[in-house]
Amino acid sequence: MRVSADRDVCVVSSLCVYRVPEVFDQDEEGRVKVVDRTPPAELATEVRRAAQGCPTRAIRIEDSGAEDRR
Ligand code: SF4
Repeated sequence: MRVSADRDVCVVSSLCVYRVPEVFDQDEEGRVKVVDRTPPAELATEVRRAAQGCPTRAIRIEDSGAEDRR
């Protein structure tokens, strides 16, 4: 799994940061920062939920195909 985020459309809701602080943080303006672009497989489900829960769909996930897809 590779994670990225479009900071131009992030609306500073902080939802992803609360959900997966190991992967998402915020800059001084509150916009999302991806701090781990290749998170471990055990975080994959939570990262997917964070992406689905982002109100502006700012989070992008590319699958390597190796993780649990639940
Ligand atoms: S959930 Fe989406 S809008 Fe909210 S901080 Fe994260 S990337 Fe930005």
